[in-house]
Order: sequence, then structure tokens, then C-alpha cells
Amino acid sequence: MNEKIYYTKPSITEKEIEYATDAARNGWGDRCYEYINRFEQGFKQHLAVNHAIATSSCTGAMHIGLAALGVGLGDEVILADTNWIATAAPITYLSATPVFVDILPDTWCIDPVQAEAAITSKTKAIIATHLYGNLCDMDALIALGNKYGIPIIEDAAEAIGSVYKGKRAGSMGMFGVFSFHGTKTLTTGEGGMFVTNNSELYETVLTLNNHGRSRNQTKQFWPDMIGFKYKMSNIQAAIGCAQMERIESLINRKREIFSFYADNLQQFNKIHLNPEKKNTLNGYWMPTVVFDKKTQITREILIDVFSKENIDARVFFYPLSSLSMFTPVANYNSYDIPTRAINLPSYDEMTKENQISIIDCIKKIINE
Ligand SMILES: *Cc1c(COP(=O)(O)O)cnc(C)c1O
Repeated sequence: MNEKIYYTKPSITEKEIEYATDAARNGWGDRCYEYINRFEQGFKQHLAVNHAIATSSCTGAMHIGLAALGVGLGDEVILADTNWIATAAPITYLSATPVFVDILPDTWCIDPVQAEAAITSKTKAIIATHLYGNLCDMDALIALGNKYGIPIIEDAAEAIGSVYKGKRAGSMGMFGVFSFHGTKTLTTGEGGMFVTNNSELYETVLTLNNHGRSRNQTKQFWPDMIGFKYKMSNIQAAIGCAQMERIESLINRKREIFSFYADNLQQFNKIHLNPEKKNTLNGYWMPTVVFDKKTQITREILIDVFSKENIDARVFFYPLSSLSMFTPVANYNSYDIPTRAINLPSYDEMTKENQISIIDCIKKIINE
């Protein structure tokens, strides 16, 4: 059997190890926030936003962000049916209802027309998830937001490196959230980031994430409201600082891996890869192949062929509304596309030979 090809794997160099070691050795007492502050500064600069708050996860960042917008019982939040559960779960933590709408067939991201059709008097926000690095139609979504007075939130967990008309994913909405889970382009093991250009929202989220203690409160141990605590540790932030210094290279490598797949696969008109539309750059977190319906190639066939070659390919997200805790919605693309799609491995240290064996697998599937 071939050596296993993982679907993702973090890129950890001496720099990450050196910074984490320094944080463990020296990052205490007066210095316990040094790497956290530095990581937030670096992230702000990279994204060109005014405010950033490092968190323990993207899920946590979304939870406090939605809470800060006042999302609560009886409210609705619109999002794409094709999503990771982490985007929907925080809506339910706040006793609000996720409203699942269909995706576009080419970007696999939320369909703005369907999003508009789902707006009611209870709609509190629309979440734009940039799936696998592919960008949502932000012009259409922001126009919707302006028309109805509804904030647009970006789930950019998968979209570091993606740029829409000169603006980085996560920097365009009322707020954006990121994940630094071990599978993501930039990692801190576990971790996340909340970003916004809105100073008032920033202050609210800062207070919420500090158990409701405002930084203007002069009394010690004095919460002004019930809050949360989704903080990142200084040691995790140290790893984040090292990754941040390497961010261009981490993104470029993702793009290079995608290009190699595309160069070898795009001649087959039976398959569709992550798009990169005019005036955008795709960070290609997860190269994905969608087979044409006519091919009758199924997810089961794909998993079978890849696992026989010891390749850790992953299934395209199931529609969230198909899960047992939600109610099915007739979102055609969200239900159809995952039945004939697969995520391909992509990690910094993968070799050309690794990629060629994956490409050979796909060619074999197409020709059978
Ligand atoms: C990874 C991911 C998350 C969750 O990130 P955590 O850091 O694990 O909470 C949220 N949304 C999307 C789209 C993701 O891919």
C-alpha cells in the first residue's frame, strides 16, 4: 500500500517551535499577552481591518459576534445550506433559528436571490461563508444588506488568501470570523479570530469575551453583563505569529497546489473545480472536484477508489438541513452537488508525486 496522503496537515517550521517555546518559557506575568497582541496586530494588517480579537475557535468568534448583534430568541439568521455545522451551531446557542438557503451551482456559496427570498421581519443577519476559499457574491449580498438594513457576516474560516475586488475575505461584512484549526491554511492548533471595522461592535465583543467586564470599568472583578470567554492563549498566539510571518508563502503554496491539479484536470469537461472569478483571488483552502451529473459518478465510488489508494479525500459538506436536528429544505444544489463531489488533499509539504497519484485516481474514475 502507498504511504497515506493526508487531506491536510499543518506546516510547522523551526520558527513556530521557537516562538511557542519562548511563550512557554517567558510569556507569563506582565508578558502574558505579548504574542496575542502581536498576532492580532499582524492579522489586522494582513486583512486591512481596524479591529481584531483572537479567540479560542471560529465557533466562539461567531457566537460572540452574533450575541453582540443582539441575535436572540425568535430571530432568524440566513445562511447557505452547504456549510460546516460550526456556522449554524452558534445561531442555535442564542435560541435563534438558522434559515438554510440554496447555493449557486458554480461557486457553491450562498445564492443571493435565495437569500433575499428568505428575508422576513425576523431576519437579524445573513452569513456569507466563503466555501473552500471560493468567494461569495459580496456585491449582491452587501446590496441586500443595505436594502433591508440587515448586517452581512462573513464566515472566512476557509478563506484566508481569498480576495474580492481588492478586499480580503472577512474584511467586507459587519464582521468576519476565521478559524485556525489544524486543518486550516494558517493554524494555531485550535483558534480563531473576530474582525470588524465597526468600533462600537468591537468594544461590545471585547467586553462580551471578557465575561462582561468592560475595559473602562475601574472596579475589579466587576462584570456589567453576562459574557463569554473564548480567549486564545499566548502560546497558541505565538504559533500564530510565526504562521503570520509566513502567510504569503502558506497562501502561495495553496495556490500552487491548486494550479497543478487544474493544469492536469481542467481539460476534462466532465469535472468542475473551484472557480476564480474575474477580479478575485481564490485562497484555495480545499481543492474540490465536482463531477458532471452525466458521468453518474457518485460520492461512494469516489471514496472507494481514493481509499484503496490510501488517499484521504473528503466528502463535500452534506446539507445542514438534512441533519437530524434540523428540518429538510428543498435546496436543489445543496443536496445534489455533494453526491458527486470530493475534496482533494492539499498541504504545504505534499509532493508532485503525491499530487500525480491523486490526479491518476481521478483520471481512472473518469475513464471507467
Ligand atoms: C473550520 C470552520 C469553522 C469552525 O472553526 P473552529 O475553529 O473549529 O470553530 C467554521 N466555519 C467554517 C466554514 C469552517 O470551515
